[in-house]
Parts: sequence; structure tokens; C-alpha cells
Amino acid sequence: MWNNHAIDEDDKLKKGETSHLMRRALRMLRPYRRDVVICAFVLVAWTAATVSGPAAIRYGVDHGLAKDNPDVVNQAALLFALSALSVWVLSRTQILLVNRIGERFLRDMRERVFDHLMKMSLGFYDQQQTGKLVARMTSDIDSLQELVQMGLIAFVTSGLLLIVTIVVLLAISPLLALLCLASLPIVVIASVQFQRLSNKAYLVVRDRIGQTLSTFQEGISGVRVIQAFGREAANEKRFARHNQEQLDAYAYAVKLSAIYFPVVELAGNIGLAIVVGIGGTFVLDGTIPVGTIAAFVLLLQNLFEPVQQLSQLFNMLQSAGAALNKLFGLLDTPSPVQERQASVDLPSHGALEAVDLTFGYSADGPKVLNTVNITIAPGERLALVGPTGAGKSTLAKLLSRMYDPTDGCVRYAGVDLRDASFRSMRERFTVVPQEGYLFQGTILDNVRLARPDATDAEVAAAMDRIGVLDHFAGLSDGLHTEVRERGSRFSAGERQLVSLARAALADAEVLVLDEATSSLDPGTEAEVEQALTKLMEDKTVIVIAHRLSTSERADRVAVVAEGGIIEMGTHDELVRLGGHYAALFDSWTGQGHAAAS
Ligand code: ADP
Repeated sequence: MWNNHAIDEDDKLKKGETSHLMRRALRMLRPYRRDVVICAFVLVAWTAATVSGPAAIRYGVDHGLAKDNPDVVNQAALLFALSALSVWVLSRTQILLVNRIGERFLRDMRERVFDHLMKMSLGFYDQQQTGKLVARMTSDIDSLQELVQMGLIAFVTSGLLLIVTIVVLLAISPLLALLCLASLPIVVIASVQFQRLSNKAYLVVRDRIGQTLSTFQEGISGVRVIQAFGREAANEKRFARHNQEQLDAYAYAVKLSAIYFPVVELAGNIGLAIVVGIGGTFVLDGTIPVGTIAAFVLLLQNLFEPVQQLSQLFNMLQSAGAALNKLFGLLDTPSPVQERQASVDLPSHGALEAVDLTFGYSADGPKVLNTVNITIAPGERLALVGPTGAGKSTLAKLLSRMYDPTDGCVRYAGVDLRDASFRSMRERFTVVPQEGYLFQGTILDNVRLARPDATDAEVAAAMDRIGVLDHFAGLSDGLHTEVRERGSRFSAGERQLVSLARAALADAEVLVLDEATSSLDPGTEAEVEQALTKLMEDKTVIVIAHRLSTSERADRVAVVAEGGIIEMGTHDELVRLGGHYAALFDSWTGQGHAAAS
């Protein structure tokens, strides 16, 4: 178990962090405090039962065997049996309880992380690698899971048992106890040392495994090139070297174990030798009764084993701590776009305006937009065009508050979007992304996403309004067709149609559209265009146009470049102007209406 838990310096927690983490984890356990309290009692009872066995033996030997009293012997035997039975029952209860608490804790954690991620605005996802977010849910949750399933009980019980055993040994015979315990510091030092060295050794092992695997993978993937240039022998040599290095790293790690475990065993045996040898002379002296020796022999088992276990569990605990730290770190990351406490609902109707809008993706990075001013009247359709990377999408994202501006503001009907309630934002604005995403479920379910309380008839009506109903009703299962079963058979165009149907069902005042750049197959292309035209009726529309037809149809066209809007007017006006748009128009028509940006 232990090689999986080699941890890096970076993962080690600082002192303050550990206690903070513990307190926070305990707070998360609050709903289960009843179970936690019961668990603590069971734990104490288990420890008491475990040490009561040797005590029963001592009683039997001293008061029964030594005094030829069969009744006491029977009593002691019965007590021992009772203690063994209790250990069994309590151990079972403990495992069940700890797992029950731990699994619920993990369930809550997974839920919190997911809920938190669902609320994060776009800016957060721009900064994150999806792989890392997935790692929070997989490897971090896994290391906590492992701790819950295997480590936690062992860690707590070992610690408690160790302390109680030392106390009991000291209580029975202080002198003999001190003599036996003399070797304990050696075991503790050896354990700490072993833990440190072994952690390092397994980090090296992990590294070397990675090295061997990547050489292997590269060899396989590049085998054609290797053969073409006759590099097989050189590559084999390289692999052999890495393979050998992996073996050496393992051998060193195993050597450490080979030194450590026998040392603990030896210390245990020395303890026993002291009990039997020196303790024996005490018995002969009459200083201690013989039962004490018997109890000591049994109790010593509880002494060295826990130290060894604790040192092994230390890494598991540390990696779980690091995982918990990362998970809490994620939960503490605020969404870049927040709802104000005193938010107001947006009025139902109004102009959308950008006032001195300035924005850069990072505080010290370049400004993508610089003091942009524009007013979009209610019901107006504005097309944004311009070269790739000019900032069209950025402007569209700011106008729909996926980001907050660095300077200036965006207002709808005079209300700064930062003051608007999220609910009213969603009612007034619909963003249609470039790529339609389909979730598991039927077409109906997928469209209904836009308004979960809509009836089937309402969904169908919305689809009909933009003229896409017949397309989907014509499928074998009609609107009940499962999208995932057909899976990839849904074309990009069809996904786009579902996206537009969602927007039609949401029926918001303002539509922000990012037109697909890739050309669709001619059949659906016409359908998408038609649906778009219908969808845009009576709406305030901001569309990032990649097609001539879209900008032609718009009421106004804005050319975005150089951090702002450099030309604005109707399609005809701009063509007449003979500036940037006219040049773009030429390139579009020159390519026969092909996609361009
Ligand atoms: P357009 O839509 O006109 O192609 P964008 O708005 O996507 O342009 O991009 C404008 C500029 O902002 C580009 O230089 C781009 O590299 C940068 N940019 C876009 N998105 C991000 C992001 N998430 N993080 C940092 N920079 C970005």
C-alpha cells in the first residue's frame, strides 16, 4: 500500500494548514456527529477490550493457577473469552461506522465540488485545465477514499492502543515496563527514519517507472521511424538502461524495508527476552507475580506493531491531507462573476449599451478591448465582424456578462449588468454557443433544458416556430429519439438546430450568437439559416458573423479590430464606404460565400 503514497515536498502541509484542514473537515462531519460520537465510544471500548484480555490472563495465573483455585481459572477463561468476543463485535461496528461516516463525507464532498464547478463562470474555466479538475474528482477523492476504507481506523486504533498499552504496562509493573520500553525509542527513531527514506525512495521509483513507460510508449509509437533509420539497437539500449534504473530504484526501496522490518521484529523480541529473562528473576525474587509476565508477553504485541503501522500510515495520511487541501482550495475559489447581494431584476425591455468598455483577460496583460462604446436598440440585430483574434467573442461575452469588464460597464435598460440578479439575466439573455452540446436523453429533454417546466407541446411549438419541428419529428422515434444512442450520427448542423430550438423555447429578449465557423452540409445549412432568421425576429441580437448572409441580414454591422469598433453601419453603407468591411466583403464574395472571419 505504501509505495502509492510517496508524496512530493509540494504536497506536504504546513503546520497551520493541518489544523485548519482538520477543523474544516470536522465541520463537514457535523451532520453525522451522532455517528462520530458513537464511533469514538466504540473505539475506546475496543481499546479497553483489547487490553482486558491480557489482564484476564494475569488474574487467572496469579489468583487461579498460583493458588490452585479452579473457579478463578474458569472465571479468567470466561473473561478472556468475553474480551475476545467484544473485540470481534466492536471491531466490526467500528469498521462499519467509520466507513459509513467516511463515505457520506466523500459523497458530500463530491457534491459540493460539482455544485461549485457548475456555478463557476467562464473566466474560471479559461484558467483551468480540465484534466486538473477531473483529477480533483478522481485521484484526490480516491486518496481520501483509501484513507477512509483502510487507513483511518488503523491509524486511530494504533495510536490509542499504543498509549493505553504503555499506561497499562506501567501500571502493572513500572520497573519491568521501563525496561521493556527501553527499546521503543529505537523503534520510533527507526520508523521515522524509514518513513523519510522510503518516501524518497518511492518517489524515485515513481519517476523511473514513468521514464521506462515513456521510453516504451515512444518506442512503440515511433517504431516505423526507428526501423526506417535502423535505430533499433540504440533504442533497445536506451530502454534497457531505463529498465535497469527502475530495477535499481526498487531494489533500494526494498533494501530499506529489509532493514527496517526485521529491526522492529528484533526490538519486539528483545522486549520479550527482557520480560522473560529479567522479569523471570523478579518472579523468583517474589517482586512480581508470574501472571504479570504472562500479561506482559501478550501486551507487548500491542506495542511494536502499532508503531510500525503508524509509520506506514503516515504517508497515506499525508497524501489524503494534501488531497483534502486541494479540494478545499477548489471550493474556496470564487467565481470570477458574482451576483451582488443587493441585486435587482432587469427591466423586461430596453437598450443594451457598452459604455467605455475596457477589458483584458489578465490584469497585467494586453487590453483586448479599449473604451468601446455602442448602443444596441431593442429589437436591433447587430453583426460583429472582423479578423480572427480581434475581440468579437470577447465583446459578445462581456455584453452577456460571462466576464466583468476591467473598466467601463455594460447596461441593459439602464441597469449595470453587475447589479442584475442572475435569474433575471437568464430570463433576458440567451447565449447560443458555436457548437451545440447534446446531453444524454431525448430531443425533447435536450430542448427542454432551456425551460425545465415546459410541456411537450410547448417544446414542440417552440421548435415549430423556428421551422425545425418537421426535421426531428421525422426521425424514427420522433422527438423521443435518444440523442446518445444515435450519438455521432447527429451532425453538427442538427446539434445547431437543437441549440437554436433551446433558444426559441427560452424566448429571451436578447440573443447572443456565435455563428459556426465550419461550413455545414448544404442541406442543414439552409435549415440552420432559416431557423436563425425566424429566431431573430423581434429580438435584440448580437451575432458574431462568419457568413456574408448573416451580416447582410443584420440591421447594423460593427467591424471589430484594434481593440475597438473601427467601422459601423448597415451592410450597404459599409460596402459603399470602401473600408475594412468592403475588403472583407470582397474576400467573402471572392470565395463564393465561403466561411471567413
Ligand atoms: P475573435 O472572436 O474576434 O476571434 P477573441 O475575442 O476570441 O477574438 O480574442 C481576442 C483576443 O483575446 C485574442 O488575442 C485572444 O488570443 C485573446 N483571448 C481570447 N480568449 C482568451 C482567454 N480565455 N484568455 C486569454 N486570452 C484570450
